[in-house]
Amino acid sequence: MKITSLKSYNYSKKARKINIIKYLIIHYTGMQSLRASLSRLLSKRHQVSCHYVIDRKGKIFKMVDENRIAWHAGKSKWKQFKNLNKSSIGIELENKGHKFGYQKFPSKQINVLINLCLLLKKKYRIKDCNILGHSDIAPLRKLDPGEKFPWFKLKRKRLGIWCSSSRVKTTRKSLNVKIKRKIFFENLYKIGYRYFSLKKTSKLDRKIITAFQRRFRQNKVNGLIDLETLKISDYLSKNI
Ligand SMILES: [Zn+2]
Repeated sequence: MKITSLKSYNYSKKARKINIIKYLIIHYTGMQSLRASLSRLLSKRHQVSCHYVIDRKGKIFKMVDENRIAWHAGKSKWKQFKNLNKSSIGIELENKGHKFGYQKFPSKQINVLINLCLLLKKKYRIKDCNILGHSDIAPLRKLDPGEKFPWFKLKRKRLGIWCSSSRVKTTRKSLNVKIKRKIFFENLYKIGYRYFSLKKTSKLDRKIITAFQRRFRQNKVNGLIDLETLKISDYLSKNI
């Protein structure tokens, strides 16, 4: 695998033990161009970075050594873990993102990502349920990598988690809104999502629901706990 080294200075100076690495976090760059994204990730002024960037042609840039903590995830939670920078490797995919014209991810880019993830998964024994998107761990702030990111292709190569539509039979009877919310958020809590209350509804619930849909029900991201969304959460909460 050909990797071009660029050196970002945006990382924590103290080396980390590699056995602390438990997560792979997938991002998109969300900027107008590759050049703008790289210069931001390299500039000391912005204090952001990641370990790898993959451009749309499938070229890999290494920004920070894996034994250093890169600054890609920001405030984040998953299961009992907080601030996932310290325990993760961050991979950015070149894509203009929702703000500048969200693009389909080219196969070339995804195939290279898959190979890189397979390598990292093996090297650090990363569990499939710990291969996550930025919006999973920061659902109130982030949309990336978004609903066009083909998690199902990763799943075919034994990377990450996914619920295929054939597993979801919408036979569950319709439920009242309160019960639906309760079951759905309990499922999400089991899967690992945070930033919501199990007891109290909030106007931020919708952001959590859309984050879940961008990841697992990509053809219809509507922020509603419909039966299909609920069933997908049922399946995942029991099978990962
Ligand atoms: Zn991100």
